[in-house]
Amino acid sequence: MKTETTIQGLSASLNPARASRKMIGFVPTMGNLHEGHLNLVREARKLCDVVVVSIFVNPIQFGPNEDFDNYPRTLEHDSHLLAEVGCDIVFAPSVEQMYGNHPRLTNISVGEITNDLCGLQRPGHFDGVAVVVTKLFNIVQPNYAFFGQKDFQQLAVIKQLVRDLNMPIDVIGVPITRAEDGLALSSRNGYLSEQERKTAPTIYQTLKTAETDLHNGQALSDVLEKIRVNLTDAGFVVDYIEARSPSLQKIDQFDQDVVLFIAAKLGKTRLIDNLQVKYSS
Ligand code: AMP
Repeated sequence: MKTETTIQGLSASLNPARASRKMIGFVPTMGNLHEGHLNLVREARKLCDVVVVSIFVNPIQFGPNEDFDNYPRTLEHDSHLLAEVGCDIVFAPSVEQMYGNHPRLTNISVGEITNDLCGLQRPGHFDGVAVVVTKLFNIVQPNYAFFGQKDFQQLAVIKQLVRDLNMPIDVIGVPITRAEDGLALSSRNGYLSEQERKTAPTIYQTLKTAETDLHNGQALSDVLEKIRVNLTDAGFVVDYIEARSPSLQKIDQFDQDVVLFIAAKLGKTRLIDNLQVKYSS
């Protein structure tokens, strides 16, 4: 496995694969890797000839009071994990390499779907994601790109971006990887205290209960309210609990497939999760 830290170095490494029309798979990450990330790499390995993983903590997607400075950076350990799952090239550029060579004037805004859900509490977040993903797509020029359904809204934003701008890339959504107790794996889980870590799986438990309640015919609004009460009782400060169609349209009845979204804070840690509930009449 190679590690490249410059755009030029990455191009030099990828040019032979491009010349021989090999399928390039790309997994963008911010590092501090866990099984969730590694499953994206495993998916890429199945479909592609060459697998590139980027590790870049993107400053422009963090708000002023968010955890950019403290975000865990563990490149050496990440590299070991990536080598084990068959990654070919790690691209780990500096902020300077990505943004430093000239002032950036271009912004990318993917419209309404970025102002909803996480976009409400994190203004500008998805613009920052859209810019860095576009830059990385142009740098790596992959055939396939892999994103986790854990960040369902992000996946929807990237799919929209690729469609709107005719980027010649297949975007693949990969299911959420969870701990045994149901907690969706996340680099931010490391911020949880021991006690908070024990409480955190309540999020997934409430989603699974909601799924059963919906299949038992309870009204969507009642089900959402019950999630709110259960999370609040468990000590969470709820940011949002929402129901959307898989394309993120608002829905108020369970008469089609629905995705239930939760964002909630436990102490200082903001956790997100979602569950797709199938409708079958
Ligand atoms: P991050 O490093 O948090 O930016 O995540 C990089 C990629 O890994 C994103 O596409 C995430 O959606 C995905 N990812 C993170 N955690 C999980 C998980 N538990 N299951 C599936 N994908 C995940």
